Amino acid sequence: MVVTSKYHLNESLKDYNLERTKVLYVEDEQIIRESISRCLRRRIKELFLAQNGREGLVLFKEHTPDIVVTDIRMPLMNGLEMAMEIKNINCDTPIIITTAYNDEEYFLKAIDIGIDKYIKKPINNADLLSVLIKSAKSISQQREIDAKNEFIKTILDNNPTFIMITDGEGTFFLNKSFLNFLGFTGFDEFSLKCKTINKFLVLKEESFYKGKSFGEWIREVIGNPEKEFIVYMSGKNELKSEAKAYILHANKIPESQYHERYLISFTDISGLEWERQKFQDMACKDYLTNIYNRKKFEEELNKEIDRVKRYDTSLSIIIFDIDHFKQVNDVYGHQAGDHVLQEVCMIVLQHVRKTDIFARYGGEEFIILTPETTIEGARELAEKLREIIQDYNFTTIKHMTCSFGVSQYVKEETAGIFVKKADYALYIAKNKGRNKVKVVDKEHSTIFNSHT
Ligand code: GH3
Ligand code: MG
Ligand code: MG
Repeated sequence: MVVTSKYHLNESLKDYNLERTKVLYVEDEQIIRESISRCLRRRIKELFLAQNGREGLVLFKEHTPDIVVTDIRMPLMNGLEMAMEIKNINCDTPIIITTAYNDEEYFLKAIDIGIDKYIKKPINNADLLSVLIKSAKSISQQREIDAKNEFIKTILDNNPTFIMITDGEGTFFLNKSFLNFLGFTGFDEFSLKCKTINKFLVLKEESFYKGKSFGEWIREVIGNPEKEFIVYMSGKNELKSEAKAYILHANKIPESQYHERYLISFTDISGLEWERQKFQDMACKDYLTNIYNRKKFEEELNKEIDRVKRYDTSLSIIIFDIDHFKQVNDVYGHQAGDHVLQEVCMIVLQHVRKTDIFARYGGEEFIILTPETTIEGARELAEKLREIIQDYNFTTIKHMTCSFGVSQYVKEETAGIFVKKADYALYIAKNKGRNKVKVVDKEHSTIFNSHT
C-alpha cells in the first residue's frame, strides 16, 4: 500500500504520540539514511540507525523500538529477512517498508510476513511522517487498552470476593483471591489441572448443583438472576466439613468483544449462613431438652404421611407421659423436675433410630414418630423404653415411670386423628394404673375414623 500524505512539512507535523515513540530506521544508502534521519530526529523520542538487516536486528533486540522502518535490498541481511526475525520476536511491532519501483518481486513475501505499510522511494518526508503518526497513534491506543485491562485486573485480583468469568461452559478468568483459596499460583495452572471449580464444591442436602455438570449449574445461575444461589466450597486448606458458603451473583459483561461472557462473584456468607442455621435450629428445637419441638414434629408428621400415601409404607407413633410428675416438682423442686425431663430424653435418644423423630409434645409429654414401622414394631419399642425408664436410676428422684400410647397410621385418616388415637391409648394406659403400653389396634382405628 502506498500512502499519500495529507500533511505538509511546513505544518511542522508535530504529533504527541510520535514524540513518545522509538523508531529503528534501516537503510544501506548513506545519503537517504542521513536525509530521513534529519527529518525524523526532531519529531520522535529516539532514533536508531542501521545500515543493513543484521545491524538492524541487533539494535532491535537491544532497544526494542516501537516502530521499524526498513529498506528491502540491503547487503548481509535484507529488509524482509530482518522483518521476519522481528515479527518472530514481537509480532505486534509495526514494520514499514520503503520500496523502489523494482521491488515488486518482494511484495508477496512481504504480505506473508505481515508487513504493515509501504512507502514508495524516493521517500517523501511528509508521507513517511504521516504513516509513522498513524502507527504511533495505534500503538498508543493499544497501550491505553493494555493499561486499562491491567487496571481492571488489579482491581479484580485484589478484591476479596471471588470472581470468575465464564461463557456458561468454560472458565476464562479467576481472580487472585479465588486462585489462592483453591491453591493455584496462576490461572494457567488452574486451567491445566481443573478447567472448572466443580471438584471444590461441597454437597449439602439441598445443594442446587447436586449431580449437575459445571455448565448445567452455572447456566442455571446465569439464567435466573432474581433467584438466590448458594454454593459451599472448601479450598486447599479446608476440610470438607469446614466448607464455606458463598452467595452467587451473575452479571453479563457489557459490550464484550466476546459473544457471551459473564462475571460471577462469590461472596462469603459463611458467618450469616451459620447464624441462619443456628436460628433455624433454635426454631425447631425445645430449649430445655434440645430435642425437636411440637412445631417441627408436626411438619415432619405431614411429610411422613405424604410418603405413606405415595409409597404405601407403615408409619406409627408413640406418645408417652411421665407418671405423677407433679409430685416430682412438689417434692424435689422444679429444677430437679427439669433435670428428669433431660434425663428421660437422653435415655430415649439412645434407643430410637436416626430416622425416628423424637419431640417434646407438651410439658412432660413426648412423642416419637417411627417411619417404616408397624404397630407391632412401635409397641415393642414402647415396651423396651418403658422397661428401661422403670429400671433407670435417676439422679435425684431415683425411680420414675412413664405411660405409653401407640398407634399406626391408617390410610386416608388425618394427622389429627392419627395422634388422637395414640393419645387415647395413653389415656387408657394411665387409667389402667400407669407404667403401661397401650395400643389402638385396627378395629379401634375404624371406630376413631368413623366418628369423624
Ligand atoms: P399423670 O401421671 O396423670 O401424668 O400425672 P402428672 O402429675 O404427671 O400430670 P399433671 O398433668 O397433673 O402434671 C404435670 C406436671 O408437669 C405439672 C407441671 O408443672 C409439670 N411440668 C410441665 N412442664 C414442666 C417443665 O418444663 N419442668 C418441670 N420441672 N415441670 C414441668
Ligand atoms: Mg404426667
Ligand atoms: Mg401430663
